[in-house]
Amino acid sequence: MKPPKDAAVAASGSWTDPDDRYRSPTGIVHAWVPRTNQTLCGLPLSKAGLIRFPHIPWAEVQPATGRDADQVQEVCPRCAAAMGQRRDEKSWRRTNPRP
Ligand SMILES: [Zn+2]
Repeated sequence: MKPPKDAAVAASGSWTDPDDRYRSPTGIVHAWVPRTNQTLCGLPLSKAGLIRFPHIPWAEVQPATGRDADQVQEVCPRCAAAMGQRRDEKSWRRTNPRP
């Protein structure tokens, strides 16, 4: 199974920046494909009490690279596995020093 390209984020909590009113995920984050009602690892959003973030792509909540990962405590390992580690992509090369 290929990871979905347009995966967004569902999280256990939500935090809004008082300055720019931008809603960010907090707590545990899962991958979620908009228009579905469960996470990639199979949790039903409403039953699990997860909040949807259709405006935030999965890549932005990865603690190593993401722009919106500041308040994220944990990335669901099953969703991460389902999305693939993609070591050969740009985001994973950022940890290496550039010449
Ligand atoms: Zn998950």
